[in-house]
Amino acid sequence: MLRRNACKTSAFSFMVKQTWGPLCSRPVRSEQWCSQQSCAQRTSNNTLHPLWTGPVSVPGGTRQSPINIRRRDTVYDPRLKPLTVSYVAASCLYVWNSGYLFQVEFDDSTKASGISGGPLENHYRLKQFHFHWGAANEWGSEHAVDDRAYPAELHLVHWNSVKYQNYKEAVMGENGLAVIGVFLKVIACWGCRLPNDARAAVGPFDPSSLLPACRDYWTYPGSLTTPPLTESVTWIIQKEPVEVAPGQLSAFRTLLFSARGEEEKVMVNNYRPLQPLMNRKVRASFQAQD
Ligand SMILES: [Zn+2]
Repeated sequence: MLRRNACKTSAFSFMVKQTWGPLCSRPVRSEQWCSQQSCAQRTSNNTLHPLWTGPVSVPGGTRQSPINIRRRDTVYDPRLKPLTVSYVAASCLYVWNSGYLFQVEFDDSTKASGISGGPLENHYRLKQFHFHWGAANEWGSEHAVDDRAYPAELHLVHWNSVKYQNYKEAVMGENGLAVIGVFLKVIACWGCRLPNDARAAVGPFDPSSLLPACRDYWTYPGSLTTPPLTESVTWIIQKEPVEVAPGQLSAFRTLLFSARGEEEKVMVNNYRPLQPLMNRKVRASFQAQD
């Protein structure tokens, strides 16, 4: 019981040291730091990133993500096996700022780091992980559970290397991607400026240390939550959130995506609004308990 909501402070601290240390200490060309449209809006006006000011659905889309998971509408599927997660710390390559979020990339030229089992029929290679978060603790995750959002959500993105040659092909293809979603209750404290487009080397890091101790999950067929929003994703949402560094989520929002001397732009609210469930069932790997 004590391991529920396992505290991941040390794993996050390590990740921060490994991924942000190099960026923070690295000189960057200021013109790369923040193009006009690429930064999240300031906290004060509380609007969504420009990426989402257009239509919020793919025309004709029937399985868009994220969704609200209603526990009582989920279906326990005893055929759902435990997910096998195998990551190699040495596959961790670099961290970069896409302007919408920052991403830690992995070497996917071999199947060293990947997942299988669970709802998946093939082995999927780890490509990258990234986070979504809000301007306040009341929102920030992409998925919701019983209409409740978490302050942040970790996404570990994998592609089907049995069916496809590379990530780009898999993004567009059926059963191309599998994304593990992990809700975060609070995030470790760090603050620094992340340069746009710049990359920084990352030391060895095993992201399985960011997963909750309890591996119960929900799964449903969905889409990418950033363009091209393709409906190629098998979502695997961990039931248990992970809890990190209590009281320090506000520090996460101090990540700045603007240049020295420029008006400061805070990256917050980099999540997509909820999408209709439509004709989908959310399956659970566990039996509901009251
Ligand atoms: Zn994501």
